[in-house]
Amino acid sequence: MHKGTLFIISAASGTGKSTLIQQMLKKNILDNITISISYTTRLRRKGERNGKDYYFISKNKFKNMIKKGFFLEHAKIFNNYYGTSKLMIEKFLLLGVDIFLIINWEGAQNIRSKITNSKSIFLLPPSKQELYRRLQNRGQDSDFIIQKRMKTAVSEISHYHEYDYVIVNNKLKTALFDLTNIIFANRLRLSYQKRKNFDLIKKLLKY
Ligand code: 5GP
Repeated sequence: MHKGTLFIISAASGTGKSTLIQQMLKKNILDNITISISYTTRLRRKGERNGKDYYFISKNKFKNMIKKGFFLEHAKIFNNYYGTSKLMIEKFLLLGVDIFLIINWEGAQNIRSKITNSKSIFLLPPSKQELYRRLQNRGQDSDFIIQKRMKTAVSEISHYHEYDYVIVNNKLKTALFDLTNIIFANRLRLSYQKRKNFDLIKKLLKY
């Protein structure tokens, strides 16, 4: 039985989902929490590290891994493959670690059907102008790619209502507060507390 919770987080490219999750992990606000590192065939961007941001692999290797059933889910986005390791997710959930998965709406739909007790969070940018500005400021993509990402952003955002929670990422500090509240509340659920405080409840119920 899974003791941890799988949190899916989606947002249009440039909304700041990776920064938000990295900040949450860096600040050590919560214990027993980690992030799933996806496999991708896209080129590494400036500052990205293999094994930290993604596992960067070739298309041939990726296709072989699909055949071997390595992925819990995978998708083709912007002409590149992205996929989540089945083993990594299972390992952490069994250990009681909450795991964050940053994936697009398609991947989220896929995961929800496989891990039915997962929780999903959609992150919205405060405005279209701000999203455009953030994409430009990253300095990672050409104008052509940024225009493409802005179009994809609208289609990604149109799926926001499929999620359990919605956070507007205007100020990082506020978004971080919202995110940690979701995790804390999830850990106070009856099913979680029943398991965590099994001995206490047993003693309290004795006459
Ligand atoms: P980027 O290339 O900007 O890092 O990511 C492009 C898109 O791929 C984002 O929407 C991101 O959430 C999504 N993505 C990253 N990893 C995975 C994955 O393992 N599976 C799926 N389905 N989408 C992913």
